[in-house]
Amino acid sequence: MKYISTRGDQSPKHFCDILLEGLAPDGGLYLPESYPQIDDATLSRWRGVYHSQGYAELAFEVLSLYIDDIPAADLKALCHKTYTFEVFGTPEIVPLRPLEDGIWLEALSNGPTLAFKDMAMQLLGNLFEYELARRGEELNILGATSGDTGSAAEYAMRGKKGVRVFMTSPAGRMSPFQQAQMFSLMDDNIVNIAVDGVFDDCQDMVKAVSNDLDFKRQYKIGTVNSINWARLLAQVVYYFAGYFQATQKNTEKVSFTVPSGNFGNVCAGHVARMMGLPIARLVVATNENDVLDEFFRTGVYRVRSSTDTHETSSPSMDISKASNFERFVFDLLGRDAALTKSYFGDALSRVGFFDLEAHPAFSQAARRYGFDSGKSTHADRLATIRDTWERHGMMIDTHTADGVKVAREHVQAGVPMIVLETALPIKFAETIVEATGREPDRPAKFIGIEALPKRVVSMAADVQAIKTFVAGHCA
Ligand SMILES: *Cc1c(COP(=O)(O)O)cnc(C)c1O
Repeated sequence: MKYISTRGDQSPKHFCDILLEGLAPDGGLYLPESYPQIDDATLSRWRGVYHSQGYAELAFEVLSLYIDDIPAADLKALCHKTYTFEVFGTPEIVPLRPLEDGIWLEALSNGPTLAFKDMAMQLLGNLFEYELARRGEELNILGATSGDTGSAAEYAMRGKKGVRVFMTSPAGRMSPFQQAQMFSLMDDNIVNIAVDGVFDDCQDMVKAVSNDLDFKRQYKIGTVNSINWARLLAQVVYYFAGYFQATQKNTEKVSFTVPSGNFGNVCAGHVARMMGLPIARLVVATNENDVLDEFFRTGVYRVRSSTDTHETSSPSMDISKASNFERFVFDLLGRDAALTKSYFGDALSRVGFFDLEAHPAFSQAARRYGFDSGKSTHADRLATIRDTWERHGMMIDTHTADGVKVAREHVQAGVPMIVLETALPIKFAETIVEATGREPDRPAKFIGIEALPKRVVSMAADVQAIKTFVAGHCA
């Protein structure tokens, strides 16, 4: 399997080449040349694999269709090292539980940082360590986080050979739980940097360093952001696992509702469906930052300015643009790279939007591709959290609540609707207390973490300062 860029770069690459890379050289995102097709016999076999041999073995089946430059035995070992009971806390890894008539919750948040990003990031950590050792190289991951991504990256990379993580975050802006999760890590290869500023300042510093190509090369700077194809690929697996738990036979269909920000999670659902997984609808749920809902309703994709981006109680969905969306639009446009480039490489930077309403592909977004969307507000979130608690005795986090709210608007008779649970409520306790008057449960391993010693470096929002710091640390 080779990979191509959404903007037409004509040099196909192998999996391990793009594993350590971010954007393609032409600014596009990598996608496989074509999606492997899963026939009925294979789907039945995989159903058996998941139920009798488990998630890690299913992950190996899916991944091996896309990865031909890691020997099968090694890839299998990496999958088994990643998806274990010890790391994810349940034998199913992604257990499905009924919420109410027709609606199910697929738990993706039982990993080390209690958010679904662990599902992909844990695999990425093991893939990075494997590939860097094979090449005899090192990597310094430089990142910016407002919470979930940074902690997932740190817990995936801690103690890994050949990898260091420098993670910037806005000083004092993360929840006490999130700060404790990150700053209590004492591994030598994890460095937390609290920046005097907001998330955008952190993001700008990271971008400025990455744009200094000499510095980037000299200090082997890399990233782990959500456009990484390996992360997306890892997420494809749990759509299959959810389907196998909700159905008995391959003639049945299911729908998924996905709390969405950068369109990474739901894009993995799109890939699963392109492979032949019988998905009826993919429902994109947004919060007040409704860039994606607007697109699926109107055909207009209009990125927001940073002043136009709301700070909400489902903060991991607070986006101004959806960085993975280009992948889906590329498929939607029949893989027309020139047109994709004219929208993402030109129109967005020139006028900040493009409009597909009149394009025949847009009506297909709903019909052929089966996408729906909806949005949720703080008031909806509170009402949904309170309702699922009072009626079902089930506490859900703020992002999952956005999903449940929108899912209820799109349930079809006879088609199980699976809502992806993207975080545990303890991460966003303040809003849970506002909704229910109760503190959410805290998994035993997180009891008392706020009192642990913390290690974090303070820094001004200054590009030179972080370069000097990284250089000093690597010397
Ligand atoms: C990252 C995140 C999301 C958004 O996922 P995307 O892949 O960016 O669409 C939703 N919920 C939680 C809890 C997250 O951490």
